[in-house]
Amino acid sequence: MFKKKVTFPDNWIYIHDKNVNVARIQNYKNWSPFMVPSEEYTSYGLEYFCQKGDGLWEKSDDELFSMAIDEIKKIDLPFSEIELEYKVLRIPKAYPVYDHNHRNRLEEIKNYLEKFPTLHLAGRNGMHRYNNQDHSIKTGFLCAENIAADKKLFDPWQVNQDAIYLEK
Ligand SMILES: Cc1cc2nc3c(=O)[nH]c(=O)nc-3n(C[C@H](O)[C@H](O)[C@H](O)COP(=O)(O)OP(=O)(O)OC[C@H]3O[C@@H](n4cnc5c(N)ncnc54)[C@H](O)[C@@H]3O)c2cc1C
Repeated sequence: MFKKKVTFPDNWIYIHDKNVNVARIQNYKNWSPFMVPSEEYTSYGLEYFCQKGDGLWEKSDDELFSMAIDEIKKIDLPFSEIELEYKVLRIPKAYPVYDHNHRNRLEEIKNYLEKFPTLHLAGRNGMHRYNNQDHSIKTGFLCAENIAADKKLFDPWQVNQDAIYLEK
């Protein structure tokens, strides 16, 4: 976050430039004015995809910060060093990994857990599914309906069955 009013118009952009590591940049102010202290400020969220323990993960917060600043400058985003502050969050298991055999293993676990009728699986890691936020919430709603009705009215596994979701 830094003090600068003018920024870019998007909520987020994907970065495909091979000269930088950053994969996506959020522009929080455009989601909501309440994401910054006042309109004089801008706050970017730079997302770096990595695995726990790899080179990127192991970098110190300071190293990540200076890499991020270099990369913002390289791709020429609006930026200023006035009142510049940062926070690094490392999120393990951020993405459910779909390897070659994950479907079969998931099916086995799903079948086993069906023995427990009062156990309700919902959400991204709860179902090991590459669901977006809206679909994750939807699975929670369907579980709540099932619990309220005391029977399986809905099948949360049908949500986002094709795993097709395009961010327009
Ligand atoms: C880097 C990244 C970018 C993303 N970008 C987008 C996007 O642009 N658009 C979009 O729609 N979705 C996006 N998603 C996906 C979205 O964040 C998830 O789909 C959504 O947050 C999943 O919601 P959830 O409730 O299933 O899980 P979560 O939001 O992960 O919530 C699970 C909660 O359970 C808590 N928890 C875990 N274990 C325990 C325990 N044992 N006891 C108590 N609490 C526990 C965790 O702390 C967490 O708060 C992104 C995800 C990541 C990681």
